[in-house]
Amino acid sequence: MQSCGRWWGRLAARGAAQHLRPAAAAGGPRRQQQRWGGGEATRCIEQLLPRHDDFCRRHIGPREREKREMLRAVGVQSVEELMDKTIPASIRLRRPLRMDDHVGNIYEALKICETFHNILQWSMLVTQYTPYQPEVSQGRLESLLNYQTMVCDITGMDVANASLLDEGTAAAEAMQLCHRHNKRRKFYIDARCHPQTIAVVQTRANYTGVITELKLPHEMDFSGKDVSGVLFQYPDTEGKVEDFSELIERAHQNGTLACCATDLLALCILKPPGEFGVDVVLGSSQRFGVPLCYGGPHAAFFAVKENLVRMMPGRMVGVTRDASGKEVYRLALQTREQHIRRDKATSNICTAQALLANMAAMYGVYHGSDGLKDIARRVHNATLILAEGLRRAGHKLHHDLFFDTLTVTCGCSVKEVLDRAALRKINVRIYSDGRLGVSLDETVNEKDLDDILWIFGCESSAVSEQQIMQGHGGQLYLFHRNFFAYHCLSPLENLTTKRSCLQSFLLQHLRILFVCMFKPISWKEFANIHPFVPLDQAQGYQQLFKDLEKDLCEITGYDKISFQPNSGAQGEYAGLAAIKAYLNAKGERHRSVSVNSCLGRNWGNGHVSGLTYVPGMMVFLFCVDKHKENLAAIMITYPSTNGVFEEEIGDVCDLIHKHGGQVYLDGANMNAQVGLCRPGDYGSDVSHLNLHKTFCIPHGGGGPGMGPIGVKNHLAPYLPTHPVIKIQMDKDACPLGTVSAAPWGSSAILPISWVYIKTMGAKGLKHASEIAILNANYMAKRLEKHYKILFRGVRGYVAHEFILDTRPFKKTANIEAVDLAKRLQDYGYQYKEDECLLDGGLTFQKCQSRL
Ligand SMILES: *Cc1c(COP(=O)(O)O)cnc(C)c1O
Repeated sequence: MQSCGRWWGRLAARGAAQHLRPAAAAGGPRRQQQRWGGGEATRCIEQLLPRHDDFCRRHIGPREREKREMLRAVGVQSVEELMDKTIPASIRLRRPLRMDDHVGNIYEALKICETFHNILQWSMLVTQYTPYQPEVSQGRLESLLNYQTMVCDITGMDVANASLLDEGTAAAEAMQLCHRHNKRRKFYIDARCHPQTIAVVQTRANYTGVITELKLPHEMDFSGKDVSGVLFQYPDTEGKVEDFSELIERAHQNGTLACCATDLLALCILKPPGEFGVDVVLGSSQRFGVPLCYGGPHAAFFAVKENLVRMMPGRMVGVTRDASGKEVYRLALQTREQHIRRDKATSNICTAQALLANMAAMYGVYHGSDGLKDIARRVHNATLILAEGLRRAGHKLHHDLFFDTLTVTCGCSVKEVLDRAALRKINVRIYSDGRLGVSLDETVNEKDLDDILWIFGCESSAVSEQQIMQGHGGQLYLFHRNFFAYHCLSPLENLTTKRSCLQSFLLQHLRILFVCMFKPISWKEFANIHPFVPLDQAQGYQQLFKDLEKDLCEITGYDKISFQPNSGAQGEYAGLAAIKAYLNAKGERHRSVSVNSCLGRNWGNGHVSGLTYVPGMMVFLFCVDKHKENLAAIMITYPSTNGVFEEEIGDVCDLIHKHGGQVYLDGANMNAQVGLCRPGDYGSDVSHLNLHKTFCIPHGGGGPGMGPIGVKNHLAPYLPTHPVIKIQMDKDACPLGTVSAAPWGSSAILPISWVYIKTMGAKGLKHASEIAILNANYMAKRLEKHYKILFRGVRGYVAHEFILDTRPFKKTANIEAVDLAKRLQDYGYQYKEDECLLDGGLTFQKCQSRL
C-alpha cells in the first residue's frame, strides 16, 4: 500500500486539497487498489477527514506530551533509550519491519474492503477476555446460560457447557473424556462421520496414545471390554437418519461410552440423543444464526449425562447467590482448569466461542421453540420435495430417512449435472465414488429448489412435486418436544434456571441482538462462503491469507504460518504436535519430554500432544540436563510471565538445540516484541500468535480467537493439513494431521488482523510495542514506592507487564490481591483470579475501546 499513509500526512499538513494520491500503488491485492486508486469519492472523504483520524494515533493511548512526562518519570531520555535498557541488545531487531506502507486511517482500510466496517463496529461491543469477573459479565453469563439450557433442551441431555471451538475439536474432547473416564485405550469411530471430524479425532488420538478404529456399527465389537467410547453421527455425513439404540445398548453393556455428533436443527424435529441413552452429545451450532464464514468462527456445543459433569471440558456457567442473597451468574467448575490444576488439568480450553454461543442462544430465544421447529420442518419439507423430484427423474437416493441432506447416484451423466450446477453457481458435494450430495438450509426457497431440480435434469418444478407429495401424504416420522419447557438445568448445587430469565433476557438484549448478530451476518462477501468450496471460488480469502502470512512471518521471523488453530491453546497443541512429528520423522521417537518454563495456561496441552511435562521455571536448566536424552522441547514464555526480558534467551535456545530439542516460544502476547525483536531470529522454532490479543481481534468475552502458528522452515512440512481441502504444501510434506474442523480455522475474523496490520504499518506496530513497555515501566515507577515490584530485568526495567507484591497487606490490613483486583474492576480494569498482573495490555485495551 505504497505511500498512502505518508501522502495522507502530507496532505493534512499542508491542508492542500490539490495533492491527489498516485493512482497505482505497489503491493497488496490488485483489484482493491484499483478501486481505491482513483475514485472521486475517495478523494472527498480524504479531504473531509481531520488528521487525527490516523488509526495508529487512535489505537495508541498516550500523546506526545504524555509520553514525555512518562519517560521523565521512568528516568530515560527517549523511547529508544528505554528499549535499549529493557530488551537485550543481542536480540534487538535493528531495522524496520519490511512491510507495505500503512494505510493511515481506518476509512482508507474500509475502502480497501468496504464491508469491514460492520465487523469493526461489532468489535467495540465485545472486547473482554474470558468472563472470570462475574461482577461485570452478568449479561454475557446469562446469555451463555441460555445457550447451555437450549442445548440441553434440544439434545435431551442433563448438562451442557458454554461452547467449544468447533465440531471436530468437540469430538476430540469427547474421545479424551471417554479415555479419562474408563482409562481404556481403544476408541471406535463410525466411518460415516464428517471426514474433518474423523481427521481431528484421529490426530488428537495419535498424540495422546489412544488407538482409533474406523468401522461401521455392525463391525464394532465391544466384548473385549477394552473400548473407551464410540463416536457416531446422527444424521450422518451422507444425511441418513438411523436408529443407534442397539449399538448404544451393546456399548453400554461393556462399559463403553456413546458419543453422538449431531445437528441442533435436525434435533428440533428428530428424537433427541438424550432419549436413546447417549452419554456425550456434540456438534456445531453454526446454523443457529451464524453465517458459514468460510469455516468459522462457530460455537460447538457439548452436553453430557449428569454422571460425567465433572469430566466435561470447557467452561460452564452456573447460578449462585451474591452477598445480598440475589441470584447471579458465574463460571462453575473452574477448578478443572489448567491454570489452577496445572499439569493435572483436564481441559485446555481457555478461549472458546462465547460470542458465537451468544449469537446461537439469541437465535434460539428469538425464534422460540415453535419457531425453531417451523424452520426445521421447512428445511425438511424442502428436502422431501427435492427427493421426490430426484427419484421421479430416475436418480437413486441412498437413504430413505433423512433431514436436510441427500446422497444421490445419478441416473444420467454426472458430468452433465456438474456442468449445469456450475452454470447456476451451485456447489454439490462430490463423493470419490461418483455419488453427489446436496444439503439444504433455512434460506432455501422455491427458486433454489427449481434450480437444483433443473441441474439434475428433472422436468418438474418444486410446486408440482409438492402437489404430488401431498397426494401421497408422505412425511417423515417425527418426535415432538416442548423445546423451552421448564427444564432443570443441572444437578449441581445452586444451579437452577427459570423460564422468566429467557423472557427478561429477550427484552434487555434485543438491541445487542441486532447489533451483534445481524451486522456481521449482513457482511455477506466474507460470511456466506462454505469452507469446502473449490479454491477458485475463494480467491479473496486466499489472497488475504497469503498477505497476512507474509506480514506475520516478517513480524515473527518465521518462514511459514498455519492458520488452522482457532485458539491459543490449539496453537500450542499444533506447535507441539509439529515438533513431535518432526522428531518422529527424524527417527527420534524417544524424545518425549517437554520442559515448561511458562507460567499459566499451557498445562493441558502436555497431554494432548503426547509429551510429558516437567514443570520448569527457575529449575529448568537442571531439568534440561536431566532429560537431555529424551528432550523434545522447551516451552518458554518470552518476555516471561514475570514481566522480564531475560538476557539469556538466546543461550537457552542454543542449549536446547545442542541437546537435540526444539524451542516452543509462547507468542500469545507478542505486544512487547512486535517490531522490536523476533522469536525466529533469536532461536525459537515455533510459536503461536494470539490474534485476539496482539492483533486486535475483539475477544467476544471468551471467543472467538485465532491462534495461528509460525514455524521455521524445518518444521514447515509438518504443519496441519485437511482431509477435504488440500492445503498447499511441499511434495515431501508429512503433516502432523488436522487440528481444527475448518482448513483455515476461524477464517472470517482474520480480516480484522489484516486491517489492523495495514492501518498500523511497520512503524505503528513497533510504536505500539514501545508504548506497551513504556506504560508498564511508568506504572511500575509510580507504584514502586508503595509496592514491591517482584521482578525486573538486569538494568532495572520491566517488559510489558510486571508483578506487584501484595502479600504485606495481608498482614497489615488483611487485604489480598483479589481485593485490589476487585477495586481495579470498579475502574474498568480486568483481572484473573489466580494472578493479579498489571500490564501494558490494559492500556492497550482501553485505547481500542476509544476507536
Ligand atoms: C492467553 C494465553 C494463552 C491461551 O490462549 P487462548 O487463545 O485463550 O487459548 C496461552 N499462553 C499465554 C501466555 C496466554 O496469555
